[in-house]
Amino acid sequence: MAFTLPPLGYAFDALEPHIDAMTMQIHHDKHHQAYVDNLNKALAGTEGENKSLEELMANISKYPAAVRNNGGGHYNHSLFWTCLSGQTTQPSAELAAAIDAAFGNLDGLKEKMSTAGATRFGSGWAWLTLTDGKLTVSSTPNQDNPLMDIAEVKGAPILGIDVWEHAYYLHYQNRRPDYLKAIWNVINWDVVSANYAAAK
Ligand code: MN
Repeated sequence: MAFTLPPLGYAFDALEPHIDAMTMQIHHDKHHQAYVDNLNKALAGTEGENKSLEELMANISKYPAAVRNNGGGHYNHSLFWTCLSGQTTQPSAELAAAIDAAFGNLDGLKEKMSTAGATRFGSGWAWLTLTDGKLTVSSTPNQDNPLMDIAEVKGAPILGIDVWEHAYYLHYQNRRPDYLKAIWNVINWDVVSANYAAAK
């Protein structure tokens, strides 16, 4: 079974003015589609062809770089789209309590995760994971993620934030910190809370 591009689930302009429609369209239809196509190409005719994305991630050190880069790209973006919303949402009581315990309060999480994204040199991702039973912030280079056996900080991804230039450059140019400030206006806390509940 070949991997396929999941639909965005909302309109390209749903996250305006924080993330512009053109960025969303190119990001989803071109960048994510390319990760899916190149992952399928890299796996065609190999033993990895019938593995789930999660199985691939857990054993990624045994696969070629094309599977690591494009498999990570497919997993990361599939999660990312669902973690965004044009609607105003709040963390569940359960997630809010865990955030308070780990980071003091929600602003503490935002600051820690934005810093992780802003200080990631080059391209990569900022992550909130459940790691050894605790909410943890980390970042990865390129399209790596915390499910990969090679990740410095492993865990169940609760929220991932794309800090590749293609995620913000049309609107924010070189101002990655401004993008990382704005994105908190469009986080889908319903989905992030569900991810936390599932990871527990
Ligand atoms: Mn991206």
